[in-house]
Amino acid sequence: MTNDSADTKTLAIRELLGITPGIPASDGAGVRLTRIIGSPQLDMLDPLLLLDCFESDDPDDYIAGFPSHPHRGFETVTYLLAGRLRHKDNTGREGVIEPGGVQWMTAARGIIHSEMPEQAEGLLRGFQLWINLPAAEKMSEPGYQEFNSHQIPQERHANGTIVRVIAGTTAAGTQGPATRPSTDPLYLDVDLPAGADFAQAVPASHACVVFVVDGSLDVGTSMAALPLRHLGVLGPGERVQVRAGASASRFLLIAAKRLEEPVARHGPFVMNTEAEIVQAFNDYRSNRF
Ligand code: FE
Repeated sequence: MTNDSADTKTLAIRELLGITPGIPASDGAGVRLTRIIGSPQLDMLDPLLLLDCFESDDPDDYIAGFPSHPHRGFETVTYLLAGRLRHKDNTGREGVIEPGGVQWMTAARGIIHSEMPEQAEGLLRGFQLWINLPAAEKMSEPGYQEFNSHQIPQERHANGTIVRVIAGTTAAGTQGPATRPSTDPLYLDVDLPAGADFAQAVPASHACVVFVVDGSLDVGTSMAALPLRHLGVLGPGERVQVRAGASASRFLLIAAKRLEEPVARHGPFVMNTEAEIVQAFNDYRSNRF
């Protein structure tokens, strides 16, 4: 991702193409969440396959967690804002994701894991994003990129803006620790003071979305309204430009390079063909993960 604050001013600005609040959903052993991408309203946005938001201080909504389940063919990116989530997989790997922490899991040819709340009460709040892998990487070795809150660089602007850079590079040159050359992801968590502007170059090759965590935003040259807890799908262009509304705003800006490959998808398996999905089920049942 290349950025130059002087050059970006000439780039075509991405306008707001559509908005969705997502739909209430239940997953795992009964975790209540909002499915923002991967819903009937927004099936996928190549290569973004799914975006879930979980946010509750009622343990009944989350305590059952996500017991042992497989993934193949893509990456899961878990970003926690509040609470603690314990992760365990079939290679013996185990850890706890804490507030401000990110687990970038490349499931690739297969991981079986559980994701369980490490808390009996209190607020659990976070996001899980699924990013597709190109055909050439779907059956590669699984891997992790894990970062606690101190390992996520924070860029502070004079006007009070704070940008947490999980992946990609900002106009000021702050680089996020998570990388994936094939999809060149950008993942920013931005605090924007009331009325403040924010701009970021995002290559035309990338799908791009904005999710409003707090407050509201006006998007693009048309200043189209993007309300609280809504996802905005941004149209073609090379630059994202948003302004916070009457109160301070917090938002996620997520972008990744389109793969433009066929997608065959069933539950936790995302491949290119139906035959590969059948193979994934067979491999999982035969303990070949
Ligand atoms: Fe999972």
